[in-house]
Amino acid sequence: MSAQPTCLYCQHANPGNETECRQCGMPLPAEAALAGERRLRRFTWFCVGLTIFCIVMFFWLPRSIA
Ligand SMILES: [Zn+2]
Repeated sequence: MSAQPTCLYCQHANPGNETECRQCGMPLPAEAALAGERRLRRFTWFCVGLTIFCIVMFFWLPRSIA
């Protein structure tokens, strides 16, 4: 994962953690390998957002009328 993917379009060497070229914004060839990690990060943030939403709803919605 320490490789520096070179852009196919402008030949700009990008840091290994980049998925898009810093110079021209095109996807880098290493994107396929990093796509899973990116999706996992997005899923993690989705879970965090869902948890926050549930907590807010827990306090915001009225308690059970029993
Ligand atoms: Zn580029």
